[in-house]
Amino acid sequence: MSLYGAIEAGGTKFVCAVGTGPEDLRAQARFPTTTPKETLGRCIDFFRAQPRIDALGIGCFGPIELRHGARRYGHVTTTPKIGWGNADVVGPLHQALGVPVGFDTDVNGAVLGEARWGAAQGLDTAIYITIGTGIGGGALIGGQLAHGLVHPEMGHLLVPREADDLDFAGDCPFHGARCWEGMASGPALARRWGQRGETLPADHPAWDLEARYIASGLTSLVLVLSPDRLILGGGVMQVDALLPLVRKHLTRSLAGYVQADALLKGMNDYVVPPLLGTQSGIVGALALAERAALVQ
Ligand code: ZN
Repeated sequence: MSLYGAIEAGGTKFVCAVGTGPEDLRAQARFPTTTPKETLGRCIDFFRAQPRIDALGIGCFGPIELRHGARRYGHVTTTPKIGWGNADVVGPLHQALGVPVGFDTDVNGAVLGEARWGAAQGLDTAIYITIGTGIGGGALIGGQLAHGLVHPEMGHLLVPREADDLDFAGDCPFHGARCWEGMASGPALARRWGQRGETLPADHPAWDLEARYIASGLTSLVLVLSPDRLILGGGVMQVDALLPLVRKHLTRSLAGYVQADALLKGMNDYVVPPLLGTQSGIVGALALAERAALVQ
């Protein structure tokens, strides 16, 4: 059986593991994201100390260059994170380890992992959204991970302002109060209500408003990409009260227009949490490795 390496490459921490699937993740290591040289060096040291892997997968924070053949393929591009602008991620790892490398956004990795082993098994069109310090989305469409010009930036979908939320200035440095992340990320929630989301009680009006904004963005995604399932993860979604409200408002917002059984039956099987939970990042990277090995 093939053994794969996985890197969940985040802006604050990197997680490395080897394994064959979510039930078999061995030797996990995590360390803070410092300079590219030091951080990638620690990844290389980790994998050199393991049995030889057949391929490596990297689910990476972005923005990243994914066009094969582009001069900076495999690089992080314009991040404000110090030292990481134009940093080559794939090159040093590929050179040191000599195995095929699957490289994609963290959220594209997550949707692939959920399709391979989690909440979207058996489906070839699904979307994974994380709602936390920002909003990000990955899409598997007809079995392929979505990217082209760059990669999807679903967090910046424009969403209409809710009628009872006229004053909030929004939290996106690019779009203010006009985009999904600006209105519904964890920091937006905290800024609007003057306290962190996890300190707001379950019956606070914040959650109904949050659910309406989440449903608003999801409505566009359902209409544009027609996913078989929507998987919602991230810190904000840990609040139990939120998911039922999102289903309710998405149903209301679609208004019966899209005639599909999955949408008309209360959405309990349509809008779901990640089955891989907090492992979806590292398991997603493992799925990227498996896919990289297959295309070799
Ligand atoms: Zn924005």
